[in-house]
Amino acid sequence: MRSFRALADLFADLERTSSPSRRIALLAAFLKSLRPEEAGAVAYLLRGQVAAPFAGMEFGMAERLAAEAIAQADGSSVERVRRMLSSRGDLGSAAEQLQPAGSGHSGSILRVLRELRAIASLSGEHSQAAKRDALASLLADASGIEAKYLVRAVLGSQRLGVADMMYLRALAKAYASDKDARTLEAAYSTFSDLGEVSRRIVRGGVAALRNIAPQPGTPVRMMLAGRARDLREITRRMHGSMLIEYKYDGERVQIHRDRTGRILAFSRRATNITDQYPEVVEAIAHSKIPKGSILEGEIVAFDPHAQRLLPFQQLMQRRRKRHIEAYVRKVHVALFAFDLLLIGNRSLLNTALLKRRALLRRYCRPGGVIHLSECTLGARLAELERCFTEALASGAEGLMVKAASGPYQAGRRGWLWIKYKREYQARLADSFDLVIVGAMSGRGRRAGLYGSLILAAFDPAANRYYSLTKVGAGLSDRLLRELLSLLRPLRLSECHPLVESGIRADLWFRPAKVVEVTGADLTLSPVHTVARSRLHGQGLALRFPRFVRLRDDKSPEQATSVAEIYQMYRSSVSGSAARQ
Ligand code: AMP
Repeated sequence: MRSFRALADLFADLERTSSPSRRIALLAAFLKSLRPEEAGAVAYLLRGQVAAPFAGMEFGMAERLAAEAIAQADGSSVERVRRMLSSRGDLGSAAEQLQPAGSGHSGSILRVLRELRAIASLSGEHSQAAKRDALASLLADASGIEAKYLVRAVLGSQRLGVADMMYLRALAKAYASDKDARTLEAAYSTFSDLGEVSRRIVRGGVAALRNIAPQPGTPVRMMLAGRARDLREITRRMHGSMLIEYKYDGERVQIHRDRTGRILAFSRRATNITDQYPEVVEAIAHSKIPKGSILEGEIVAFDPHAQRLLPFQQLMQRRRKRHIEAYVRKVHVALFAFDLLLIGNRSLLNTALLKRRALLRRYCRPGGVIHLSECTLGARLAELERCFTEALASGAEGLMVKAASGPYQAGRRGWLWIKYKREYQARLADSFDLVIVGAMSGRGRRAGLYGSLILAAFDPAANRYYSLTKVGAGLSDRLLRELLSLLRPLRLSECHPLVESGIRADLWFRPAKVVEVTGADLTLSPVHTVARSRLHGQGLALRFPRFVRLRDDKSPEQATSVAEIYQMYRSSVSGSAARQ
């Protein structure tokens, strides 16, 4: 059995190593030495979690409580911990410093996971004190380096920078070959639980990951769409007939009816949002959808009397953990179902969209809050133009055009689905989902708030974030105040190691929050760093950016990618050359 100390040493090595291939090698060598359950535990602990994200096991511990636990374990005062915190920059490093070097031992990886799970599952009246005491007793056994990562885990600030794809590559290196990386990725896309993928491969090799079906209760990673610059591009990219659907402006949801009949709803980030939409859950419970099924749709704010779509901002009021019932009455929603992935435990991932849609119609009858997405089967530009005009007139934000014979490509953004939004047509340029990596302090009217935010795109291949723009426009004072409290827990003393920013920010943040912005156009820039390696040392910048909204439904790894931005830049350059 491997010790938690060995894992903490691996974490420290990963933090010291920036080369992606070296990081993968380190991780692979460690994973090779594990039993199935241990590999599952490592998959979670690497990202400071104790279970797959959709299990909803969160520590819910504030920095103040963790500081008290450290003081309790060490027999020192909270004041001393605080002093150490301000000199070391983070509470994990403070705990490491306070723990006598080399002393103590937390035991095995599995023991630590068990203890951490016990802390996460404490709830109720005196749970805060119980959490503090349990953490203190775990820390009392730990060596300095163990304490550092234990504290970062409970605070949700484990920043080892191992993205999902990097972890899968390491797992492939340890238990299969590089050419099997696709099989691992497909398995992870089918059930988004890195722990389960790890346990299976350690137990049964790569063969255990081939031809697997979605499991009700475990989210499937959602299929995503490419973006078209104009409707003509869609006809060029789509071969054969296409299902032209309205693109609704709400929250994507994947609804599972598991083998026991229980209904669960997951967001695009694979978090469990079942409690947020009780009326949708109720409607599905009364539908003909059998046990062992998974369907997808978009939940939107909806006026049931006028049968009218309402703006996304209204739906955001439903994003809450408390007073849900009052808001169910205040903000009505509708589900626009558009896909079926599993029916009665039979996988439909490889079934053509038209057939999936026919099954959806059979099992998911419209009525009450349930609707089916508006769609037309077509193949010609004129049909796209007509649907687009109709979609906008109905309050949808554009079109989602899908290859009628295409499979459901879990976790992939390809050209089998193509989106086209209103903003694209208005040539306000496209909208981008970018990650906040830094901020400039506000002056004058914005004194005490942020003046602007530094935003970056993600590059999954390099597992890094590249700065694209600095946005100040469109940020209301109310939002700026909200951002202060949202970003405070993400503060860093310097630029995050995975971020390449051309701007020296006043404040740096861990890349975690995604925001949507629009802009005028993309230009070459000596400052920003997106696609710099492909553009002879110049990066791309988004000009005249304007904040649109927070995108809590997206994780930083789901932000607009560097490759997408580069492609947009290329087609804008060739477009303007063609027009001249
Ligand atoms: P974007 O967030 O701009 O990348 O657009 C993709 C999102 O559009 C999906 O994740 C869904 O939440 C949403 N969407 C709205 N209508 C549809 C539809 N008919 N089919 C698929 N996705 C849709």
